[in-house]
Amino acid sequence: MDDNDTRVSISIVQYLSPANSGSCGYCKRGRNKRKDGSDDTEEPSFSLGVWAHDLNVKAYGDLCDVGWRRSGKYLYKPIMDKTCCPQYTIRLDVHNFRISRTHKRVLRNMHNYLKYGKLPERAIPDPTLDSTPSKLPKVKSKTENACLKKLTVKDDINEAKSERAEKGVKKKEFRKQRAIERRLKRGENIFEYQRERRLKEQSRKRTIQSFVEEYVEGEGWKHKLEIRTVQKGSPEFDKSMEESYNLFCKYQKLVHDDTNTSRKGYEGFLISSPLTTLPSDRVQLPALGSYHQQYILDGKIIAVGVIDLLPRCLSSKYFFYDPSYSFLTMGTYSALREIAFTQELSKTRPSLHYYYMGYYLQDCPKMRYKGKFKPSDLLCDKTFKWMPLEEAVEKIISNDSKFTVFYPDDPRPIAPSFASIRCMFRDRVIMYPKLRDELSGNKLIEFDERMNELRYYMHKVIESVVVFFPSLTVNQLADDDSATTEESSQSSSRSSTAEH
Ligand SMILES: [Zn+2]
Repeated sequence: MDDNDTRVSISIVQYLSPANSGSCGYCKRGRNKRKDGSDDTEEPSFSLGVWAHDLNVKAYGDLCDVGWRRSGKYLYKPIMDKTCCPQYTIRLDVHNFRISRTHKRVLRNMHNYLKYGKLPERAIPDPTLDSTPSKLPKVKSKTENACLKKLTVKDDINEAKSERAEKGVKKKEFRKQRAIERRLKRGENIFEYQRERRLKEQSRKRTIQSFVEEYVEGEGWKHKLEIRTVQKGSPEFDKSMEESYNLFCKYQKLVHDDTNTSRKGYEGFLISSPLTTLPSDRVQLPALGSYHQQYILDGKIIAVGVIDLLPRCLSSKYFFYDPSYSFLTMGTYSALREIAFTQELSKTRPSLHYYYMGYYLQDCPKMRYKGKFKPSDLLCDKTFKWMPLEEAVEKIISNDSKFTVFYPDDPRPIAPSFASIRCMFRDRVIMYPKLRDELSGNKLIEFDERMNELRYYMHKVIESVVVFFPSLTVNQLADDDSATTEESSQSSSRSSTAEH
């Protein structure tokens, strides 16, 4: 796309259907047939979806901040007060990221593998793999459900305990003092001891970057790992297309037991992107937009991270890898590399502050690993204000994991008015009140409802897009997108089951 391309500033979203329900990829409700053959549709997953033909990176970033995500060109937003498994948008402040002990072990394991070819003595279970939704116990009865919740709460208590232990700074100081006294008594060189301690402390304060830089300088290493950031349409991307697709099929089959992986589905789900940029978004390189990050080990692609680079955040959309390398805890490793990448980019893009890992689900262990990256916030679905994760989780747990408004006493920002919504009508763009004049009876009621839904859930973003209704257009928007809408919205349901 060159700078003379005038299409780049236009965002067009197509209304698909009223917010609807479907089977849930997390708790599996709505998927099981009852004994009498009818569907179990009790408390199913509930979301609103639109199809984005073109979407400016800023508009998409703003949508993420009111709870939306994308899957290919399909955008969706869980209807939190209706859906069975409330999904809160989670973000990590990369400037204040605190690396945990487990994260350091993951980085060290990779380092030892690359440098010495050494396999980890003790494999770190990849929480991104642990209890994937497909392996979650089927919730058959309320008792089982209660047990599951109890386990969840217990996990959190254990986590809190270990955190408190880590915070036992006073005790640590006391022990340090005692150690110095013992050494003094034995007549040892106390300065040497203190120097060693300082080195140890420093190694504890290491950043992700400090682990990563070593690979670059190392010589005579057993393996070489390179991360290549590529964009659709580039020669590297096209050349590696087949290899990435084969890797995706292997991953889906072995990790998610999914053999329904057509090439068209893969392209619609992980390559197709509605994101467009303005020339100003392309001044700094890499330009804002959608990318694949290929993890190339000794010349072979062993993992791919699908990411969106937006004005304020790097959003991780999906990650797939060769399961033969699961001993390297690839899910966690990639998240750490993406955080480091965001930190690096923020040096030249000061507005870039956050790493988005999608949705956080309190009752889904696979998704709760996201909370291990600190400090993180969860998005309040009513006020669109962020709350520190620990505080928000406490509120969710004390509300029995039901949908929780984090700031119940604060008002919801006022939704934009009908008068600010632009619509495509036949071959023109007009404001919604003008379109209303052309409608009457049931059509008017129906459109008012749809517009209401959009302005309520898309919020201020509705003012920066053109809403497209195929039923209002004589000449269909001339591109191939509408033909693939159905298929991609199907693949989107997969993304919700297996999102990074
Ligand atoms: Zn559910």
